[in-house]
Amino acid sequence: MKITDFSVHRCRIPLDRPIGDSQVIFTEHFMTVLELKTDDGRTGVGFELQQGMPTSAVAQLEAQYRYNGWSGVVGQSPLGMAMRIGRPRGGNVGAAVLGLATETAMWDLAAQQAELPLYRLFGGSEPRVRAYGSTLDFHLDEAEFRSWMAHFTELGMGGIKIKVGHPDIEWDLNRLATVHDVLGEDVDVMIDANEAWSPKEAISRMKRYDDEGFEIFWIEDPITREDYPGYAMLAAEIDTARINTGEYLGFHGKRRLLESGGVDVLNIHGQFQASRAAAHLAGDYGIPVSLGNTLLELGVHLAASLPECLYLEFSDLAWNRLAVEPVKFEGGFAIAPDRVGHGIVLDRDALAEYAEPQ
Ligand SMILES: [Mg+2]
Repeated sequence: MKITDFSVHRCRIPLDRPIGDSQVIFTEHFMTVLELKTDDGRTGVGFELQQGMPTSAVAQLEAQYRYNGWSGVVGQSPLGMAMRIGRPRGGNVGAAVLGLATETAMWDLAAQQAELPLYRLFGGSEPRVRAYGSTLDFHLDEAEFRSWMAHFTELGMGGIKIKVGHPDIEWDLNRLATVHDVLGEDVDVMIDANEAWSPKEAISRMKRYDDEGFEIFWIEDPITREDYPGYAMLAAEIDTARINTGEYLGFHGKRRLLESGGVDVLNIHGQFQASRAAAHLAGDYGIPVSLGNTLLELGVHLAASLPECLYLEFSDLAWNRLAVEPVKFEGGFAIAPDRVGHGIVLDRDALAEYAEPQ
């Protein structure tokens, strides 16, 4: 099987709710959809998201891909490419156009060729993964916040993650009180500060939440991503919650983080191959992983193939409208599609509806 052709779609998708955290807010998603075609008539699909800024016009996206990515893709075997170990150096670090979309489409094709669902190609045997609902609520009012929590509770989620990190600690405490009010004590509560605090502030806030009687399953990204000594300090001082971080770090940063001893749950997402390597490294330190949001929830294949994945994040975002049959969430679990490949088939009507070529 060889790659012979590609097509690119540019979509602008309005969100059901303004999403964000203590640092950012977004009301729409600019998605690029890449289809790679093969000489035996198969199509692999990959996705890319740009937040906070429109993507280039589709003609320009096509030209950029043809100029920078395509010569390394055309004529290649998908499995061979998906398995390739890159050597990022100098100016080629992060320079690939549609790198994530290409890797996703390659794995889709490789699993189609193997006639396996992707999680099985990755060595998994059980399609279900424990999932948590992620409200992304920082910019929602109280009523909206409650309704999103109710939505995730209806899906049977055993965990809910909310945003904290407001300059006024009373705001955080009110949110935690609402969570307690709605969910009771049977649901794991995760909080995410998106790097809002200094190490000392993180320690004092976590102490206050504990003093107020709020049990926290994990605190995510309390301080800046590369403050490895800071994370080591938090790990030594905070014994009331796990520390979840790594989402914003590349492989090198994740390694340094693990070496620092400052992480209890390593957050991985992004390209499959790099995430598999990071999960392997975390396992070497005896540290479990969690999956952050992935486009069209495709990280479910990765999560389902890993031996120590605590939870997969589900924010129920509008990108799932692009799929004929999105990844299912039932009874507190994400379920990897049992179709060959990654199993996400594009909904052509939705693609047309959200297409914005210019
Ligand atoms: Mg986060």
